Amino acid sequence: MSTHILVVEDEEKLARFTELELLHEGYEVDKAMDGRTALEMATHNNYDLILLDIMLPGLNGLEVLRRLGPDFGTPVILLTARDAVMDKVAGLDAGAVDYITKPFAIEELLARIRVALKQHNKMQNSDSSGDVSMGRIADGIYVWKGLKLEEKKHLVTYNGQEITLTNREFLMLKTLLENMDIVLSRDTLLEKVCGYDYVGETNVVDVYVRFLRSKIDDIYDIKMIQTVRGVGYVIKSE
Ligand code: CA
Repeated sequence: MSTHILVVEDEEKLARFTELELLHEGYEVDKAMDGRTALEMATHNNYDLILLDIMLPGLNGLEVLRRLGPDFGTPVILLTARDAVMDKVAGLDAGAVDYITKPFAIEELLARIRVALKQHNKMQNSDSSGDVSMGRIADGIYVWKGLKLEEKKHLVTYNGQEITLTNREFLMLKTLLENMDIVLSRDTLLEKVCGYDYVGETNVVDVYVRFLRSKIDDIYDIKMIQTVRGVGYVIKSE
């Protein structure tokens, strides 16, 4: 379940270069070389993000954007020429979330993609905060906002990106997720994560929480695991 990006660019070299960089970042990539193909692909696939060049053969990028319509749910970042101020304005008016001027530094493009994906995700969460599924959504599958833990696959992802956890970190996260909104004491967590016969300090629980936060909360700028002073830890559905 990786993040899927459509790159719409008729300059072959630039399209290929962008594709390689995105693949390197772990994104899944499709390419379209003209406006009609782009429109077709965008309509029939559920992309997470679209990079859309404005100057395209056939339909130009702005026209593609207009035809996708105001309710098209996928964030679009426009690729524009340096001096095309009107294109930028028209593009943002037509629903693009951002634009980047060519030639661009790949680091800047990647940063803008990350921001657009993050904002989109936040928006989706707040749009549906009433009925969003949290906690156990199926046997052995737990969800908290963008985070998903699949017990059988031993897999944790955030917005589709895999997070590598040790066995004990995984167990700790699973225990907190399956007890969502319940504050768990260090003793309870210790027992779940290290077993009944563990002999040692309960502050190993704090250590694992710190590891989890450094791998998830800090990376994705979220507050998932909350400390309840003098009691323990909890993940709240809010
Ligand atoms: Ca072009």
